[in-house]
Amino acid sequence: MASVAEALSEVRTRIAMAERTCGRAPGSVTLVAVSKTKPLQAIEEAYAAGQRDFGESYAQEFEQKARALAHLSGLHWHFIGHLQRNKAKAVAEHAHTLHTLDGFLLAAELQKRLLAAGRTLEVLVEVNVAREPQKSGAMADAVPTLLASIRSLDRLVPRGLMTVPPADDDHAAERCFRDLASLLETHRDAFRSPAFLSMGMSDDLALAIACGATHVRVGTAIFGARSYEKPLQEHSPAASIGPMVPPREDS
Ligand SMILES: *Cc1c(COP(=O)(O)O)cnc(C)c1O
Repeated sequence: MASVAEALSEVRTRIAMAERTCGRAPGSVTLVAVSKTKPLQAIEEAYAAGQRDFGESYAQEFEQKARALAHLSGLHWHFIGHLQRNKAKAVAEHAHTLHTLDGFLLAAELQKRLLAAGRTLEVLVEVNVAREPQKSGAMADAVPTLLASIRSLDRLVPRGLMTVPPADDDHAAERCFRDLASLLETHRDAFRSPAFLSMGMSDDLALAIACGATHVRVGTAIFGARSYEKPLQEHSPAASIGPMVPPREDS
């Protein structure tokens, strides 16, 4: 298997080609390296190869990694998983950008935790564009109200929108990306400029960039396959920080 540095370089090339193909400025797309379930060493390897933006999905795993790697200057953590209110503290204390804001109660909890931590947090609203029942995220028609209600929360910096498209269906994915891009246009004034559009993963990053993505979230193509996609078992707080076993987020 290719090293992390080699895989990272290939992904950067794919991004640069996609930018060029659709006439976007070189470097206009930010690569978020999704390191969930991967060991610290993989993150350190990517960091050594110049990567600075990393994405994590599970609150406890994220907090452990953020603490363990606090010495890596300029490293920006993006929290991209579903976030429950009772896990908001870890994100408020360690993340730079939350991609999955999906409701006012979570926003209010984050505001409280951010005040206590003396920090601010960039937030993207996750939108369930295709209205898939099993998916988290706000429905598109709830986005205006959510954006209006978080304006009073001064620790949250609204930056844009994020989505995860329907799986295994390129046409549905493209429609989803285009719908999210037009929703961003509709609400551009609500976001600090330049607004972010977080969409595209290992398999569909070129399509997402063609549809206007400013952030692609890439895991597998950089770090290799994960041995599981969903949290499997309760994480013991005493466990070492070796190979990561993510906690259940719904407990
Ligand atoms: C895991 C994950 C990714 C990365 O997916 P890959 O297919 O491994 O690139 C991107 N976005 C979200 C929200 C994820 O949970």
